[in-house]
Amino acid sequence: MVPPRRLLDDLAVYSLPMRTRFRGIDVREGVLLRGAAGWGEFSPFWDYDVAECVPWLLAAREAADVGWPAPRRTTVPVNVTVPAVDPEPAVVIVRDSAGCRTAKVKVGEPGQSEAEDIARVEAVRDALGPGGRVRVDANGAWEVDVAVRMTRLLDRAAGGLEYVEQPCRTVEELAAVRRRVDVPVAADESIRRAADPLRVVRLEAADIAVLKVQPLGGVTACLRIAEQVGLPVVVSSALETSVGIAAGLALAAALPELPYACGLATLALLDGDVTSKPLRVVDGELPVARPDADLAGAMVVDDMTMRRWRARMDAVRHARP
Ligand SMILES: [Mg+2]
Repeated sequence: MVPPRRLLDDLAVYSLPMRTRFRGIDVREGVLLRGAAGWGEFSPFWDYDVAECVPWLLAAREAADVGWPAPRRTTVPVNVTVPAVDPEPAVVIVRDSAGCRTAKVKVGEPGQSEAEDIARVEAVRDALGPGGRVRVDANGAWEVDVAVRMTRLLDRAAGGLEYVEQPCRTVEELAAVRRRVDVPVAADESIRRAADPLRVVRLEAADIAVLKVQPLGGVTACLRIAEQVGLPVVVSSALETSVGIAAGLALAAALPELPYACGLATLALLDGDVTSKPLRVVDGELPVARPDADLAGAMVVDDMTMRRWRARMDAVRHARP
């Protein structure tokens, strides 16, 4: 058990080392809030400014104070994420994924060749076997012509791609790619960091919407967006602890349809968790559950980190959305 003084009544700051450097960070930090409904997580990355953090706080407060709609399912299928690594480690990641039948492969990494992307996708297909599904995520890296060519090449390498996620940066470019390829296009950044998530629909730029609970302001806000866009949804994490992942699971569990595996199997990227009952992938699925935070397994946070997060929360609380 954890000494009680580490856990304040309604607020705790956590800090966990990353097992692999991801999104340019080695340590994941955030705030956990407790309210009448349970624990919520507020963990915007430091490259988000105060205004951009407002929906993250709304999501945490919703979790703590209000809670979520009733679930329609008890488990959620999840995908394994394969970073831009060589084929051999890619195979190991898929084999060690606790039975995930869908893999999301990062492609278009700056400084890497197209041949490396193709080799990685081929290796992942071999590791999954013919029944598995392979999707790729370019994080907006490609120009339209490159995106069209690479999507076709990777579709062949995968023996059929499930979809290509955010092949280009802008909504207009996504629409142009979508008109020229047969592979479905998923929009992630074009929804999450856009002033108007519905532009994707108006410009017929995507077949699938990737939704993340914290950047979009909570589970109920995401359900509303899902209804408005009218596209199949893939719920993904923002690299949260089990407390934040539980909100993603609540969204995935509340959606009327869930045709794709969700990107919520990211706890393995963190070395530790904020609960003694971490969510665990079994047979490629996560249980729809909500663990309490007790900070078991988390590092003791120094005073400076505490102060930085309290100041950030105060600034966000007083910001206008
Ligand atoms: Mg993405």
